[in-house]
Amino acid sequence: MSGKTRRVLIVEDNGRNRKLFGLLIDSMGHECLMAADGAIGIQLAREGHPDLILMDIQMPALDGVSALRLLKRDPLTADIPVVAVTSYAMESDRKRLLAAGFTDYLAKPVDTNQFKRIIGNLLGSGHDD
Ligand code: MN
Repeated sequence: MSGKTRRVLIVEDNGRNRKLFGLLIDSMGHECLMAADGAIGIQLAREGHPDLILMDIQMPALDGVSALRLLKRDPLTADIPVVAVTSYAMESDRKRLLAAGFTDYLAKPVDTNQFKRIIGNLLGSGHDD
């Protein structure tokens, strides 16, 4: 194994997706924090100092775009890269999310290889080979 263990915060209201993303992050040798809505996600981002956040868009309590705005406004969390994970798959949605300040975008259902490549690159652990 090479590379440093990183911490990834998964903010996702669907339990099956949380589990899947958690297994993928785990298989990459990183650790996870989990939140089932945007409000808890923001709290964990402040307390847990994750290296990366995966953010669902459609969630109760606080949606992903609103949560992102709050994260970017807080100096404690402003520099953490945030990847949108959403079933909004149109090109216009992608542009809207990147314009809102998301670092990157993953469409659901996620492609496992694309997930690992994008997350791996953002965590600085290189490609899986
Ligand atoms: Mn959702």
